[in-house]
Amino acid sequence: MEEGKEQVCRECGRRFTGRTDKVYCSRECKNRHNNRKRSLEERARSEAIKALDRNHEILSSLIAAGAASAGIEELSRIGFDADAVTSQRKGRCGHSECRCYEIVYYRTDVKIFGIRRQD
Ligand SMILES: [Zn+2]
Repeated sequence: MEEGKEQVCRECGRRFTGRTDKVYCSRECKNRHNNRKRSLEERARSEAIKALDRNHEILSSLIAAGAASAGIEELSRIGFDADAVTSQRKGRCGHSECRCYEIVYYRTDVKIFGIRRQD
């Protein structure tokens, strides 16, 4: 490893001299970087779970109301995130078959239909 090359810390931007494979000026900067990265990952994960839970709530209320289909635009107005699914595959009818936990439905560009709990 080449020693003594001046580099810029990826965390604080300060110049430091050290091994060429070092990217942080100090252990503190390295820890700060890793902590921020972890907290961003946790936030992304928690937002994904929140979106799934919100979708589940909306889908459950549709089932409870006896509605088997709904427009994506009106659903998105009440917080439905059409991209938040626990799994997705091509259904027999050619539409995307989406799953939100135990609830299954088909999706087109404009609506979801066939909303039901998997038995
Ligand atoms: Zn630094």
